[in-house]
Amino acid sequence: MNALVTVAPGLHQLSLGMVNVFLLEHDRQLVLIDTGVPGSEARILDAARTLGRQPQDVRHIVVTHFHPDHAGSLAALQDLTGATTYMHPLDARIVREGLWRERVVTPAPGFEEMFARVVVAEQAFPRTAVVDEEVLADDVLPIAGGLKVIHVPGHSAGQIALLWSEHGGVLFAADAAGNMQGLHDPILFEDAEVGRRSQRQLAALNFEVATFGHGDAIRAGAAGVFKRRWGDGAAVPKG
Ligand SMILES: [Zn+2]
Ligand SMILES: [Zn+2]
Repeated sequence: MNALVTVAPGLHQLSLGMVNVFLLEHDRQLVLIDTGVPGSEARILDAARTLGRQPQDVRHIVVTHFHPDHAGSLAALQDLTGATTYMHPLDARIVREGLWRERVVTPAPGFEEMFARVVVAEQAFPRTAVVDEEVLADDVLPIAGGLKVIHVPGHSAGQIALLWSEHGGVLFAADAAGNMQGLHDPILFEDAEVGRRSQRQLAALNFEVATFGHGDAIRAGAAGVFKRRWGDGAAVPKG
């Protein structure tokens, strides 16, 4: 599969192997959601060029949470694009101060092996980065025609999902959930109960399309998929 996939008009998903980042086109500008692991900047800017844009057309970078697979190339991309950067304050602090190992995390049930392989293993930590704008629950960022911030802690205390009003509603779920062969938990939680509450919060929203940090986008009827898994009327309460 091509690494750069157009999920809907103006909504492009770039797969960087383990993690996805997103480019939104609006008014000839680009909004980047998440930045991949350290060293992903060239691939992300190549994707922008494939869309007929230059690095300086990336005007805004929203990072969903501090994990190195999402915030990893923020510093480099900020240098290369001059974009304004946005994060929730609880995770912005970690990115600014380089406190990558500060939070205590545990594997989600069933993900112990992957956790040991991916999270505990030695890894390159990102450079610290400047976060220009701190965003909070229910803020509507005046970019890409309006991106609503949904605070979804549990996986990470300062994680945000985003709801874009285009295409009947596009949810950027970040790592509140994954979608590899069906909706599932992220591989780790800081607080599993809070994470479950965040999943129920997302299942109460209306949107047509959903994207994930890890896994495939759902292109139609996405809210129904969330409701069946985590909604009030979910038939079988799972994991
Ligand atoms: Zn994460
Ligand atoms: Zn992730």
